[in-house]
Amino acid sequence: MSRKVLIETEECIGCQSCVELCPDVFGFDEDAEKAKVIMEEGGAEDCIQEAMDTCPVECIHWEK
Ligand code: SF4
Repeated sequence: MSRKVLIETEECIGCQSCVELCPDVFGFDEDAEKAKVIMEEGGAEDCIQEAMDTCPVECIHWEK
């Protein structure tokens, strides 16, 4: 079973690093100017992990 990824949206500063690294999994909400998860499960985990590690406010997490 694959893990689910989520973004703590209120923490996101809209830098779009995650969107650039992993466009299949993360999209950008232009109105809110924040990233959003467009594929919760099944995305490439190495790519998601890199996005987590790169996020300047560390607001991307695996769902527990
Ligand atoms: S890397 Fe983090 S702060 Fe930047 S857009 Fe993605 S979730 Fe938001």
